[in-house]
Amino acid sequence: MGFKKAYIETFGCQMNEYDSERILFYLEKLGYRRILSSDKADIIVINTCAVREKAENKLFGHLGRFKNIKKQRGDDILICVGGCVAQNMGIEIQEKFPFVDIVFGTHNISELPLLIEKRISGIKNVCSVIKKGSLYPLYEVRRINKYKALLPVSIGCNNFCSFCIVPYVRGRELSFKPDLIIEYVKKLIEEGVIEVTLVGQNVNSYGKDLDDKICFSDLLEKVSDIKGLKRIRFMTSNPKDFSEDLIQIIKERNNIVNHIHLPLQSGSNRILKLMRRKYSREDYISIIENIKNNIDNCSITTDTIVGFPGEERADFNDTLEIVKQVRFARAFTFIYSPRKGTPAALMPDPVKMTEKKNWFKELIEVQNRISFEVNEQYIGKIVKVLVEGLSPKNEKMLEGRMENNMIVIFSGNRDLIGKIIDLKIEKAMSFYLIGKIAGKVNNVRDACAAK
Ligand code: SF4
Repeated sequence: MGFKKAYIETFGCQMNEYDSERILFYLEKLGYRRILSSDKADIIVINTCAVREKAENKLFGHLGRFKNIKKQRGDDILICVGGCVAQNMGIEIQEKFPFVDIVFGTHNISELPLLIEKRISGIKNVCSVIKKGSLYPLYEVRRINKYKALLPVSIGCNNFCSFCIVPYVRGRELSFKPDLIIEYVKKLIEEGVIEVTLVGQNVNSYGKDLDDKICFSDLLEKVSDIKGLKRIRFMTSNPKDFSEDLIQIIKERNNIVNHIHLPLQSGSNRILKLMRRKYSREDYISIIENIKNNIDNCSITTDTIVGFPGEERADFNDTLEIVKQVRFARAFTFIYSPRKGTPAALMPDPVKMTEKKNWFKELIEVQNRISFEVNEQYIGKIVKVLVEGLSPKNEKMLEGRMENNMIVIFSGNRDLIGKIIDLKIEKAMSFYLIGKIAGKVNNVRDACAAK
């Protein structure tokens, strides 16, 4: 009798990727093992994202596909929906898709074994969504990657940017105690982890809810002090809480990578106000200048929204102008997507979608050119990458990540996976580089030390 097979489909952010590792932990407790395709699965879990309409629709598209599988196999397969859409819609999902066996929210993933037992006992349409978030044991996770680990430092968000659904589906900010985080990082290093990414909806407000006052740069310093940790990344930051101390600690520490993801959203002060982002374009630019003046070769990436309700050509020009000035390594740009229940969804939105699409296209063209020019600077250079695995772009090639988050694909032997090696960059693309192994590939683990 083979093991029970679980297929987990994950949409959205790093927090969702981490939650899928928690989901796998609880499924393994019930004897399931993860498989990479839904065909032969005994249970399918869709971990959803509600940040934009497109992400939400992915759920409905997949449910359309899984409906046939369910029709053929009946109760031999369980279809489960979790994540932010489930947290937001709850039982509504089963009203629309009655074949969905289980719906669970973002705050009660640990309840999954109980919900599965309930369903297997014969109860139809099991749905459990808890409104209030709470912290959970950091050990109850089944990591997918041997060398890299995601580690939440906090959950939830208190910022309530007017366009954002996150505070409604992820709850209020709660920070994990620093000792717990340190202890867990030490365990990760013992398990051979090379790179840890500290995640949170807004890591910069870490610790504000804790009794013993500690801020994110303090936590980063403590994590950086831990012996054997080669690389530390963190996301996502919010400019309104981005401190001078944070820039200094990144500058001083070799094992904190020189990549900062700092969402701008808009370059127009009028729109930033309507978004309730709580910083101005001038504030943003001064943070960027401070980063560039203090951290060598720092790669800065961002998020921008085009077509926010009430945005006019002049506002869009402000965003375009900042993007040209800052020269981000990469900008994740989206057309505004109204989220039911958010203040922005009620704001007047006169600009036609065709116009917004034209702005979007214009911004993407400018940014892609900049990304390509930024990447071109690496041609001929020797860079260090952590080899992450086979390249999704070309299975015959390996994919590595530079400290500054740049992706490099190259040909090499699979036993390089999990190692930090030197590559010589030969070619630049808009979103990745092509390289070849530089010099011999021995005693490579210590290469990262020299920043
Ligand atoms: S900071 Fe704003 S955009 Fe980011 S998760 Fe919080 S509310 Fe959403």
